Amino acid sequence: MAVKGSVPYDPQNVFARILRGELPCNKVYENDYVLAFHDIAPKAPIHVLVIPKAPYVSFADFSQNASEAEITGFTRAVGQVARILQVDGPGYSLLSNVGEEGGQEVPHFHVHIFAGRALGPMLPE
Ligand code: AMP
Repeated sequence: MAVKGSVPYDPQNVFARILRGELPCNKVYENDYVLAFHDIAPKAPIHVLVIPKAPYVSFADFSQNASEAEITGFTRAVGQVARILQVDGPGYSLLSNVGEEGGQEVPHFHVHIFAGRALGPMLPE
């Protein structure tokens, strides 16, 4: 079910629970700023989520309220994860859903990395 992409942050959301180690994840990469792990219901042969470790609800919240260091750290980490996945050559898509009309289901900011096949048109008709 889609959620609002606005504050307040819900500390019981599934990604907060993964960050606290209460739920498992299939980890790809981790540093001071981010955790990256495989999506539990992949929509492409490679489908990885990159999330900040700090509690931001959505891209809207992150872009407005994160520090310069957090924004830089997150952006660089997304590129690093793509290199780890070896998808730079063939290419990949990034997506971040925000709020109800954006189709956001988990209210912790995340970027999807999709890869592993030709991904077709940007959005369904
Ligand atoms: P969004 O619609 O952008 O909020 O996407 C949320 C994504 O989180 C979906 O692609 C889900 O399949 C994924 N997801 C939900 N729970 C988990 C989990 N426990 N581990 C990994 N991915 C998850």
